[in-house]
Amino acid sequence: MSVMLSIGLVAHDDRKAALVDWAMAHADFLAGKTLYATGTTGGRILEALPDLNLTRLKSGPLGGDLQLGALIAEGRLDVLIFFVDPLSPQPHDVDVKALIRMATLADIPFACNPATADLIAGGLG
Ligand code: PGA
Repeated sequence: MSVMLSIGLVAHDDRKAALVDWAMAHADFLAGKTLYATGTTGGRILEALPDLNLTRLKSGPLGGDLQLGALIAEGRLDVLIFFVDPLSPQPHDVDVKALIRMATLADIPFACNPATADLIAGGLG
């Protein structure tokens, strides 16, 4: 794990508010980290925390999830926080599965809900 942690942030639409709440609660943990987020998620986080070092990728359904997966494949993402919506079908389900597969394959810390994300932030903070 690199000294300057790189973290990917994604949330499906019904989980975006939860991720913004999580980011605000962990603003000290996220400060100084290199952050990548899918487009809409990143915009919402930056509205709440404009000083974060966050790069917005494409929107998830337009390739953003795959961009995060590519970062993992290249060894450039240390942690993935991905709040998935378990109750709604996603048009880009294959991309979601690809991203989860890459996080699993690369064995990086990976949270798909706030309780796990809390543990990661506590463990790495
Ligand atoms: P979004 O993408 O942040 O651009 O909405 C998230 C997703 O994968 O649905």
